[in-house]
Amino acid sequence: MRIEAGWLRATGPTAVFNLLEQAGYKAYFVGGCVRNALLEKPISDIDMATDALPETVMTLAKDNGLRTIPTGIEHGTVTFLVDEQTVEVTTFRKDIKTDGRRAVVVFSAAMEDDAKRRDFTMNALYADRHGTILDPLGGLKDLRAGRVLFIENPEDRIREDYLRILRFFRFHALYGNPDAGIDADALNACAQNLDGIDNLSKERIGHEIRRLLGADNPAPSIAAMAQTGVLNRVFKGADHCAIAPLVHLERSLDLPPSWMRRLLALGGQDVKDALRLSKHEARLLAAMRIAVTNALSPRIAAYKLGFEAAQDAFLVLCAHLGNPLPTDLNLELSIGAKAKFPVGSIDLAGNFSGPALGARLKRLETTWISSGLQLSKDELLSQD
Ligand code: ATP
Ligand code: MG
Repeated sequence: MRIEAGWLRATGPTAVFNLLEQAGYKAYFVGGCVRNALLEKPISDIDMATDALPETVMTLAKDNGLRTIPTGIEHGTVTFLVDEQTVEVTTFRKDIKTDGRRAVVVFSAAMEDDAKRRDFTMNALYADRHGTILDPLGGLKDLRAGRVLFIENPEDRIREDYLRILRFFRFHALYGNPDAGIDADALNACAQNLDGIDNLSKERIGHEIRRLLGADNPAPSIAAMAQTGVLNRVFKGADHCAIAPLVHLERSLDLPPSWMRRLLALGGQDVKDALRLSKHEARLLAAMRIAVTNALSPRIAAYKLGFEAAQDAFLVLCAHLGNPLPTDLNLELSIGAKAKFPVGSIDLAGNFSGPALGARLKRLETTWISSGLQLSKDELLSQD
């Protein structure tokens, strides 16, 4: 079995292969890049594994004039920076102790040891520089079947690192076959270990949830998160019921997935903190929530929020209500997004000044919005 992809021969990995193989060491691509190449999907980063010790990797890089950043050298990772691309090279490892977040590792010369400390069988796939697949744990057949399976015992794997609960649902959303169902032992182990989620960093949780919500169809995975109690552990008060109808509506408009739109549909309390949203993201989410709660029309929502955010809010509203989308949705959104409030300070300056002018403008804008953005300047000014 061989994969074919342009990045196999990119300058970064080629430099790393040359460096390590010429010195007599082994090197492989591993993890997501191999998995996604097998699925013919784009990759998000290049990870490599080697039997060379991290100090050796650093010394070889230095001797050959390659730039490295010692990102996590105590855990065996050296990041190469070649032509603005990064390649993470990690020495084969074996966990000897874990505390649910960080592992104490020893380095190993065996790929099998390295494979066993990974999370899922589909993430323990390796490829040599020519793209030939090495599959020490049988992950290829699981990947082909869309089965996300923990390596060996799910409970043990989860207790070593509780983030794997969220990674399980993320990878299921992205690469699982919903018709094949979700592994019952894994679900059970997730449900039994909810307390571990509380000690994870919000950044790590946020990273996983964004990726999960960005899947083409996260609905089955999110339903399973709800069923196991994981969803409410991450966001109190979240409700998954609108996600499947939302995905259906998105597809009817051919919209690409949006994690923020799905997050809006989930609701829940303290989402900003739970996912460490940026100020900008939190503000946008709050504004979209107001549009949904107040059931704003697409035209008015688009005037307030712009086309895209209004579209997201309206889709979520329809998903919650079980309503179909109006046929003139895009036209209404365009009208709202382009509309300009026709009255300015200058029109009122003769009669008002200071805060009274501001208040008057605001009142007129409210009247204009209530008219469906229809009233003209003259009609509004004649209301005095
Ligand atoms: P992507 O890069 O598309 O998010 P990925 O599978 O490459 O997916 P990374 O987070 O980049 O995910 O991790 C690279 C590899 O490292 C994984 O494929 C997996 O083998 C291993 N890995 C990462 N995080 C963990 C973890 N928490 N527990 C066990 N193995 C992990
Ligand atoms: Mg990766």
